[in-house]
Amino acid sequence: MIKIRNLSKSYFTDELETTPLKNIDFDIDKGEFVAVMGPSGCGKSTLLNIVGLLDAPSEGSYEFLESQVADKSERQLGRIRKQNIGFIFQSFNLIDELTVYENVELPLLYQDTSASQRREKIHALLDKMGILHRENHYPKQLSGGQQQRVAVCRALITEPSLILADEATGNLDSSSGEEVMKTLVELNKQGCTIMMVTHSDEHACYAGRIVRMLDGKFVCEA
Ligand code: ADP
Ligand code: MG
Repeated sequence: MIKIRNLSKSYFTDELETTPLKNIDFDIDKGEFVAVMGPSGCGKSTLLNIVGLLDAPSEGSYEFLESQVADKSERQLGRIRKQNIGFIFQSFNLIDELTVYENVELPLLYQDTSASQRREKIHALLDKMGILHRENHYPKQLSGGQQQRVAVCRALITEPSLILADEATGNLDSSSGEEVMKTLVELNKQGCTIMMVTHSDEHACYAGRIVRMLDGKFVCEA
């Protein structure tokens, strides 16, 4: 599903060059659950953003779903992303001005789904995630665990084939974190491919494969 070859990423700011990713080779097969670990600043989020088509490599090649990302326009990449990828972030990234229902509805508005189809899907998912009774609340009115559950619903509502989670449990208490992990495991069992950045050894153990990064490179794999 993901095939990265000799990929580097550099940023230039104030004549200073940072290279958070250095000549990386990395593959993820369909159906895998991969945990990425490593100290702060080693390039984990940079890699996740490139994998998620939110950022472009500086050098090297990236094939997503058997096609070269470099050959695509911004518009095509946006479409591929919306159809195939769900993101979960540490800071939830919910829109404060929208209700729970509206936040989860957002990704569906880019798709060809009628209002009644949307309502049915959203209600089913919110119910499954135990948050339906909060559908008219605003994010600020919810606990961190509830907000992350909403963010998980937003990531899942389009039934993506790839879930990218960047320290998704980092701001949660341990029982909410455990809930999110169980959801990811469940999704993986249903065939969803997962790439998850985490600082937690305990959470990494849920993955089928753990890769470790240091200074923009992979250092070992278990
Ligand atoms: P991690 O997620 O492992 O903590 P990041 O991928 O966020 O690490 O960052 C890796 C390095 O790249 C850091 O040194 C960071 O300062 C730098 N970096 C990340 N994003 C940018 C950016 N947009 N502009 C400049 N430097 C960046
Ligand atoms: Mg990060």
